[in-house]
This record gives sequence, structure tokens and C-alpha cells, in this order.
Amino acid sequence: MGTESRYRFYVVDDDPIYTERMRRFLEAAGHAVTTANSSRQAMEEILNRPPDCLLLDVMMPEVDGLQMLKQLRNNSDFDSVTIVMVSGKAYEFDRQRARSFGADGYVTKPIASPDIVEKLTRILEDRIMLSFWGVHGTLPVPGPKTVRYGGNTSCVSMAFSKGPFFIFDAGSGIKALSDHILSTYSSPFRATLFITHPHWDHINALPFFAPLYMQGNEFEMCGPAHGDIDIKSLLSAQMDGVYFPIKIKEFASTLKFRDLGEETLEMDGVRIRTLLLNHPGTCLGYRVEYKGRSLCYVTDNELYPPETDFFNEHYRDRLVRFVEKADVLITDTTYTDEEYPAKIHWGHSCVSQVADLAARASVGTLYLFHHDPDHSDDTVDQKLETAQKLLRSWNSETACVAPHEGLEVRI
Ligand SMILES: [Zn+2]
Ligand SMILES: [Zn+2]
Repeated sequence: MGTESRYRFYVVDDDPIYTERMRRFLEAAGHAVTTANSSRQAMEEILNRPPDCLLLDVMMPEVDGLQMLKQLRNNSDFDSVTIVMVSGKAYEFDRQRARSFGADGYVTKPIASPDIVEKLTRILEDRIMLSFWGVHGTLPVPGPKTVRYGGNTSCVSMAFSKGPFFIFDAGSGIKALSDHILSTYSSPFRATLFITHPHWDHINALPFFAPLYMQGNEFEMCGPAHGDIDIKSLLSAQMDGVYFPIKIKEFASTLKFRDLGEETLEMDGVRIRTLLLNHPGTCLGYRVEYKGRSLCYVTDNELYPPETDFFNEHYRDRLVRFVEKADVLITDTTYTDEEYPAKIHWGHSCVSQVADLAARASVGTLYLFHHDPDHSDDTVDQKLETAQKLLRSWNSETACVAPHEGLEVRI
């Protein structure tokens, strides 16, 4: 671990067994640790020298953790200090209360494994966990030809360490995300689902997203209306009792729906911008911005090559501006260049046009996405090689990746 990622932790808990255990875990990972078993003593010390991260037990004699949190959040010297509450109480009421007092995180005891260090570092660094659950387009294609990248259709998630959880599209990849949430997150779980458009490969595994059936969970589903058909009707129509035996009103979680056009939204400190894409029907691309980082999810989309009659410079430039300098661009790379002439007007892009967009917009990393159902892992490898060669030949600093199902990237 480099010195730049070493942090100063201060651990306050009246239980000396717990403070010593935390010291052991944190020091083993190279961090500096001070501990205190008295909240009064701790208060004096930290006021003199604020740490990078303060771990506060909620229930302590003398001054309890929440009182300390409240006092420290009224002191501007502590604006940049990450404060994490630690408690044996896992109740949502207590979590919410801690958040409302300004806690950056809330972890529950018992803390028995060094995995806690990773969790605390995530809260401290405030990273976004980007995860890929389905990278193919059009049709799920499981089988021997897609074992490396996976054969599921579009689904990506972004988990923010301070709370918000965003899901992009509900293709068949959302089943693995559903399993992940059930095994990792405690109830109640909240998330926002952003749908690009209602083609099957982007919505039809929604009924298999188990957290929707759980009471107490809350979801907001956002996406573009199609004329006078709103996003609620678009998503419900596939669950009409005939095409799927359970109706959307039988979801036990609390659901909200929001129709989106081209606009800018703010959700829990995260900014989301949308752009209409070149695809049959109404399809939205998303740009997510948080504390100097930006991630774009732009699928499905057809980039006409400049040598075709349909090339539209105005649209190309709007799109370049939309994805400009993004750290992450996840975008429709359905075809190879050789296949594209036979697929013009199908609403999808070929690899050279996608590389061109990423280079023009100086994006950090281009993620090739929404592969054609006839593409094997080897074809995806070829597209990756083509994109990387082109980017190198243009002296572009944009990196290029073909993500596989299960890939997690911290941004
Ligand atoms: Zn699609
Ligand atoms: Zn589509």
C-alpha cells in the first residue's frame, strides 16, 4: 500500500476489546490508528488534531456517539473528516438518524473480520462501484461461445458508498444483480432504476428482480415516455397477467415512476443528465456526475459513419459534448465494421465509430457494450483489438475495455 493511501483513523468505543481489534485490522492494512475508550478523552484529542476518519460507537456512557457526531458536524474543522458510526443496532431508524446528523457511514457490530477495512476505505474515498451484470444486446445468448464475457443482456449498476444505488436497464443481467443485492444488502433496500428504452433486451427481466417483491424496499423507475405511453405503462404492459402471471401492482415494495426527457436531475448529491439517442423509438443516454467523476451509459445508439449520407454532424457533436471527458463511457458497440454496411438503420454502432466518439470526447475509458447476439467471445476480443489499435493510431489517451459479466470497477 502506498503512503498516499494511508489514512489516520481514530476509534472511539467504551469496549477495549473492540478498539484493539479495530487497531489490529487497520494497522495490518498500513493505516495509523489512535483509540480511546472514553468519549470525553477522545473529544479533547480529536479537537486538537482531526483524523481522516473517525469511528464512533453509538452507545457510550458519558457523551454518546450521536451527541458527539452532532457537535462535530457543527464544527467547520471537521467538514473534511469522514465520520462512521458503529453500532450493534441494525435498525433502519438508527441508521437514518445517524445520516441526518451528518454521518458518512454506519456499520454494524459484530465486526469480526478485516473485511471492515475495505468497507471503511470505500466510505472514506467515497468511490463509485460500477458493476456489469449483462453486456450483450438484443437477446440473451448463454452457451459455450459466451462463457468469458457472459451472454446476458444489458444491466449495469452504480453503487455510491454514501447511499444511492443506480441500476441501468433491466435486461437478463438483472437476475445476477438481484442475487447480489439479496446476499449483500440488508433490507430495506432503495434504488433508482434508469431505463434507456423499452426494447425487450432492456426491460424484460424486470419481473425477476426479487427486491421488487420485498416489503419495505423502495424503487424509483425512470425512463422516457413513448408519445402518450408513460414509463409506468411501458414497464407494466409486460406484466399484464397474460405475458407474465404476476402484475406489477403485486410488487410489495414501494414504487415510484418518473417520465424523463432531455433534462438534468439531482438525486442525493448525484447529478444525472440525459440525451436523446439515435435509435428507433425514444431512447435516452445517461451521464452521471459525482464529486468530479463522470460515467456515461449510452446505449442503444447508431453512429452513422461520416462517409454515409445519413451522417449528422450536429448530432455527433452533441453526443461528443455529452460524453466529453467522462471517466467512463459504456456504449453500444454492436457490430464489427465489416458487418455494419448490412445493418445500417438497425439503430446500433460499429466499433470504429465508437472509438472515434471516445477519442474525440477524450473519455478516460471506453467500455464496449451491447454485443450482437451472434458475437462470440472471440468476436468481442476482435472488436476490442480493433478499438485499441485505432485509439493507439490516433495517439489517443483513451483506454478501452470489453467488460465481462461480474466486472467491478471503482471510480
Ligand atoms: Zn438493445
Ligand atoms: Zn433498442
